Amino acid sequence: MRRDDRSWYDTMQVCYNGHQITNFVESQPESTRKRCDECGEPTTDHCLKCKAKIIGYHHIPGVIGFSGPDPPAHCHECGEAHPWTERRKEIGDNTTKVKSEQTNKIFIVHGHDDAMKEAVARVVSKLGLDPIILHEKPNGGRTIIEKFEKNADAQFAIALLSPDDNAFVATGTAKNARPRARQNVILELGYFVGRLGRDRVLALKREGDLEVPSDFAGVVYTPFDTAGKWQFEMVRELKAAGYDVDANLVL
Ligand SMILES: [Zn+2]
Ligand SMILES: [Zn+2]
Repeated sequence: MRRDDRSWYDTMQVCYNGHQITNFVESQPESTRKRCDECGEPTTDHCLKCKAKIIGYHHIPGVIGFSGPDPPAHCHECGEAHPWTERRKEIGDNTTKVKSEQTNKIFIVHGHDDAMKEAVARVVSKLGLDPIILHEKPNGGRTIIEKFEKNADAQFAIALLSPDDNAFVATGTAKNARPRARQNVILELGYFVGRLGRDRVLALKREGDLEVPSDFAGVVYTPFDTAGKWQFEMVRELKAAGYDVDANLVL
């Protein structure tokens, strides 16, 4: 692949059973494996017949992405089926099913409102799901991506927007300050919307005066109300995303 200032395609590495190892063979050689971590099978980054590279992540200058294409069934050069294509047929496409199976892990993105964090984590647990709390670290961006990759089978995130900061425009004064959520919470909310889709992200917003990015990728903010209606909204959203949860468990 050519490396110039224009966009270019990285190379993908896949195990013989079709588990994707990395989409970044060239830009992140440390992410490659001789054998699959998941099943122990050998890996390849090219067609076994014609040796053409398997096309990976599309690098576009100025665009930061986190994933890339899924393993293709056939070689884009010679059309030969990759080893995993036949194996999937034999085992009834089991690998794909395993990959898309819903787990109980639910990411929780939060700011400084511990009471809100604990209340939400408790309800998630009551529903029989596993809350994965993303703790704030100084270099938050890297932490969230690493934690996400370790729990890549989690398919739902809840972002807690609480009034942790006060902000006003640079030309204004502190008198005009309005409360808003931590910037890292907004960043992580955006990350999950991009990664999981907006129907798999619930944004819970503390009631009262709290500035949120308006019309942000179609995200709807659910009020975190003292009466506890949010719990039923959460159940509804989880159900819509395919989770088998029972609203009676939160009563
Ligand atoms: Zn594998
Ligand atoms: Zn080929």
